[in-house]
Amino acid sequence: MSRKTALVTGAARGIGLATTKLFLAEGWQVAMVDRDCEELAQASEGLENVKTICRDVSQAGDVEAIITEVIDWSGELDALVNNAGVADFGPIDETDFARWRTVMETNLDGVFLMSQAAAPLLQKARGAVVNIASISGLRASTLRVAYGTSKAGVMHLSQQQAAEWGEHGVRVNCICPGPVRTKLAMAVHTQDIIDAYHDAIPLGRYGSEEEIGNVITFLCSEKASYVTGQVISVDGGFQSTGIGLPSLRG
Ligand code: NAD
Repeated sequence: MSRKTALVTGAARGIGLATTKLFLAEGWQVAMVDRDCEELAQASEGLENVKTICRDVSQAGDVEAIITEVIDWSGELDALVNNAGVADFGPIDETDFARWRTVMETNLDGVFLMSQAAAPLLQKARGAVVNIASISGLRASTLRVAYGTSKAGVMHLSQQQAAEWGEHGVRVNCICPGPVRTKLAMAVHTQDIIDAYHDAIPLGRYGSEEEIGNVITFLCSEKASYVTGQVISVDGGFQSTGIGLPSLRG
């Protein structure tokens, strides 16, 4: 039986790399896309059944090239994971238009462009899309005007895609991860923020890359064949709780 093909963006490290390895362990082949060529080459060393594509998902020309490379390599696409993302935390007053656009162009434009370009292949395969948003798209907080708004956009975009592509058998779901100790998060999480997350999360800890990846690969699998249009938090319970958790624990 031929291998199923997944395309994972932001696959050079963090959640994208962990997800790539989980797909490989389940017998898939993976097109690993990232704009950091050096880190992508290192990450793919020793991995079998992968194709590395060093491109930027926020650039329409690059996106067309990514899909052409996937067609030349495998001829089909069963799952698209729009995981590439950037984080930039700052007050609204200090978020100029250039800073806003830098976040939007990868986090929101990239998801739109990649999904649209991959749609014909996904429709042919009756495949699945998983878009990675964030708990910051579900709940507003300080310093996240661009990041949080981009992720809220990803959540709604996912539901638009699910509504339109369902008739072609394409399922689209969205995951909102809680905090994970990746390079992206650690660049913006101070010790105060880390402590506050531990207080506010019922499970009392950060998640791991694999804990997010397991839900992504599940949503791309046949086991999730009747799941579409969903926004699923994978966050140790953060989204479901209100105030008072640290006091109750005490
Ligand atoms: P990471 O920084 O470890 O990995 C992100 C990867 O995406 C990097 O390799 C980077 O080079 C790549 N990338 C960024 N912009 C790109 C672009 N325009 N084109 C191609 N590649 C690009 O980050 P991570 O923590 O693994 O994050 C993965 C996703 O999960 C992101 O969408 C992020 O917003 C989301 N997320 C992360 C957390 C967390 O706490 N780590 C929480 C919620 C959501």
